[in-house]
Amino acid sequence: MTQKTAVVTGTSSGIGLHTAVGLARKGIHVVATMRDTTRAAALLAEADLHGVDLTVRTLDVSDRDGARACLDAVAAEFGPVDILVNNAGLSIAGTLEQLGEDALQRALDVNLLGAAALTRHVLPSMRARGSGRIVSVTSNGAAVGEPFLDAYCASKFALEGLMQSLAPVAARYGIAVSVVQPAFVATNIGENTDTAALASPGDPYQDLAECFLRSVHAELARAQPATEAAAVVVEAATTGEPRFRWQTSQAAVDSVGLSLADLDGDRAVAAMSAWLD
Ligand code: NAP
Repeated sequence: MTQKTAVVTGTSSGIGLHTAVGLARKGIHVVATMRDTTRAAALLAEADLHGVDLTVRTLDVSDRDGARACLDAVAAEFGPVDILVNNAGLSIAGTLEQLGEDALQRALDVNLLGAAALTRHVLPSMRARGSGRIVSVTSNGAAVGEPFLDAYCASKFALEGLMQSLAPVAARYGIAVSVVQPAFVATNIGENTDTAALASPGDPYQDLAECFLRSVHAELARAQPATEAAAVVVEAATTGEPRFRWQTSQAAVDSVGLSLADLDGDRAVAAMSAWLD
C-alpha cells in the first residue's frame, strides 16, 4: 500500500505540532508547514523523541499564492495530498466597538479564507481520486460566542458553516470533511493572542476586559494538554468511521452541547456572561 501524505498547517507549536507528529506516528508521510521554518526546532525535537521523520515546508495561509505553490510542490514531489489539516489559527481579543475593520479582516483572512483556499486547492485531486480527508481545527468558540473574542468566534463560526456546507457535497466524491472543536488547550495561544485592542487608555470596556482576561487565564491554567487535543485531530483524520464534528475534551462537549441544545440562545449567552463577573 502506498504511504498516505498529510499536509498540516501551523505546526511550529501547540496542537499543530503534536498533530503532525501524531500523524507521522501512524505511518503517514507528514508535510508539516509553518510560516517560518527557522522555528521548526520544537517540532523536530518532538518527532525525534518519537522516532519519526517528517518534511517541513514554508506555508503562510495569508499568502494565498505561496500556499498554493507549496501544495503544488508537495504534490509534485510526494504525490497527491490525502489529508489536509487546517490547524493554523489566529486569535484577536476585543469587543466589537474596540475592533477595527482590520482586526475582523485579519481573523477572517487566516481562520476562514486561508483554510477555504487550501481546501479548494486540494479538492480537485481528491475528487478525481474519490478519497480524501479535510479536517479543520475550529473551536468550541465556533458554537458559542465568547465575550471579547468577537473576531475570533466570527471566523470560527464561519469556518464551521463553510465546512458543514461542503461536507455533504464532498462526501458524494468520497471525501470526508470534519471539524475538531477544542475548548481551552495549553498552547501558546494565550501569548499569541493579539490583545492590543483592549489596551486603549480611558476605554469604557476596561473593567469588563480585565474580568475577561482573568477568566481566560484561569481557564488556560486548567487547560487540556496539547497532546490530548492533537490525538483527537489525528483520530478525526485517520478513523475508518469519519464524522463531521469532534470535541477534544469534556469541557468542549459541555459548551458545544449547551449551545446546540439551546434554541433561543439565552443559556449560552448567560454562561458566557460569567466570564465578565
Ligand atoms: P498556537 O500554539 O498559537 O498555534 C497556532 C499556530 O498557527 C502557530 O503555529 C502559528 O504559527 C500558526 N499560524 C498563525 N497564523 C498563521 C498563518 N498566517 N499561516 C500559517 N500559520 C499560522 O495555538 P494552538 O492552540 O495550537 O492553535 C491551533 C488551532 O487550535 C488554532 O486554529 C486555534 O484557533 C485552535 N484552538 C485552540 C484553542 C486553545 O485553547 N489553545 C482552543 C480552541 C481552538 P506562528 O508560530 O508562525 O505564529
